Formats: sequence, C-alpha cells, structure tokens
Amino acid sequence: MYIREIKLPQHKDPEQFNCLWEVTTNCSYRCRYCAAVKEEKFQEVDSIIEAINYIATKKKMHLTLFGGEAVMHPDFFQILDELKVSSLQVHTNLSKSKSFWDKVARTPNIEIIISYHPCHVDRDEFTEKVLALIKTGIIIKLIVMLDLNYREECLDLFNFFEKLESKHPNLKLSISKIFEQTLDSKDIEWYLEQQVGREDIIVFHGVDSITKKYTQESYLVNNNLNNFRLFKCDAGMRTLVISSEGKFFACSDYRSHNISFTNSKDTGWKEKLEFISEKGVLCRIDKCLCGCNIPKKRII
Ligand code: SF4
Ligand code: SF4
Repeated sequence: MYIREIKLPQHKDPEQFNCLWEVTTNCSYRCRYCAAVKEEKFQEVDSIIEAINYIATKKKMHLTLFGGEAVMHPDFFQILDELKVSSLQVHTNLSKSKSFWDKVARTPNIEIIISYHPCHVDRDEFTEKVLALIKTGIIIKLIVMLDLNYREECLDLFNFFEKLESKHPNLKLSISKIFEQTLDSKDIEWYLEQQVGREDIIVFHGVDSITKKYTQESYLVNNNLNNFRLFKCDAGMRTLVISSEGKFFACSDYRSHNISFTNSKDTGWKEKLEFISEKGVLCRIDKCLCGCNIPKKRII
C-alpha cells in the first residue's frame, strides 16, 4: 500500500496562495553557512511581474521576495510599484541604508523579515535600523541567527529585542540555528524554550545530499524504479516558487531538484500555471524537506 495523497498544512487563511520569488541570488554578504547565494547577472523582471499579477487576479496571493538579497536588484522599486498582490513580505539582511528602508516601508501591506548575521554586521547600526523600522508600525519579523562563534552577541541582541516585544506588537522575534553547528545540551534547552509560542518560521541553510542522491530521476530510471511511488500533492494549487531566472516550481523541494514546470518566457506559461493550480502535482520526491512534515515512506 502507498500513501496516495499529500495535503500541505493549512495556513491560517485556507484561501491564501503562497508564492516565493527569489529576486536575485546575489547578496551583499557571504555567510559561510549559506547555500542560497550565488553571483549572477541581474535578470529582467517584467515577465515575472506579469505572471505574478496574472495569478493574483485569480488567487489571494501572498508573495515573499527573497534571495540572496532581494533588495539588491536594481529594479527593486519597480517591483514594489508594479506588483498587485494581497500581501507582500521582503526578506533582508538589512545591509541597505536607513533611508532606503524608510522608502520600502511606505509600500502598502508590506512586512519585512530581517535576519541578523553577526559575522557581517555592526550590531549598533543594525539595532538602530531595526528600531527605526519598528517605529513605522509595519510588521517586522526579526530572526536572530544563533551563530555559536558569536554566541554572546546573538544572545544580547535577542534579549534586547525580547524586552521590546510587549511594547511593540508589530515586532515578532525568533531565533534560528545554523545547520552546520551543534548546540550543547544547555543551549538546546534554551533554544527550544524560545520556540514555544513564537511564530514558526522554517529556514533551511543546507541541502541534504543524501536526499538528492536517492531522488534524482536518473537514479530512479537507472535502477528500474521509474514507476516508483508517485504521490498526489496540492503543492502548485497553494504554493509556487519562482527562481531568479524566471523558472516556476510547485514547491521549494521541486526547486532544489530543478524540476520546473514552466518559465515566464515560455509562450504557454498561462495554461501550465492554470493546469497546476487546479490539479496540483504528482510528486516523486521521496524525502521531503518542504516542511509539509508528512512521512512519505512506502507503507507495506
Ligand atoms: S544567509 Fe542571507 S545574508 Fe547571508 S549570504 Fe545568504 S542570503 Fe546573504
Ligand atoms: S516535495 Fe513538494 S510536491 Fe512533494 S510532497 Fe513535498 S510539497 Fe508536495
């Protein structure tokens, strides 16, 4: 017997359609634990904006701009001006100036997700920029990356903003660990306590090479497993991931396996998007890192 159908966890709003757009893979930093950053030529954005706005006429679109550092794209303000989505989030390391962020914060329905990377950042300057953004009243999600090489600095910053949380309901604080580092038992206990009652923001900082090896299509075919299990999943009906080159993926795991179903330059993108957003996908990825938390092992 096989698992036949996968339902992604419901968001607070079941009508919500989540789209992630990797605006650029360039970044102002080079964190040693980062798997996302890669130097590239900035890509044109017009056809991607057109595709997103098209979906947003049919779905209640919640769009997240990420990277790299999305705001480094030279057309970033064009993107903000032309997008017509229900709500928008921008991920950033906050390396741009205060005046830049002042302008971004004027965009309607925007939330800013800031990650603190102590290896690159002047803590006082960073704190000042976050405080200025909190004052604008927009939602600010601050993720402190607990880098053990800067343990005390991270904890100080976390404790500082924790004291402000009760006074500023628009500030949502969280702490995330770095994939490659192992916490000792005392730190784990503290770390787990901090997750209770906080918003669950799933952040991955690495790619599991074992998963890749066992789920590549060539592996399945070479091992005569091409009619291996296929699971019906509603990714694509409620989620979409767009790479900086404009390729479209049903979910972030499809992205990491480079299984794209169309791209913004393909003349048939509308039909393909419509098809997938009505039917979902047949998933062949065995061990899912997408956060759906559904065990996909064959049940016999
Ligand atoms: S972790 Fe974030 S800030 Fe650091 S290099 Fe990667 S994208 Fe840039
Ligand atoms: S990898 Fe993607 S398509 Fe497969 S179960 Fe996870 S979310 Fe669904």
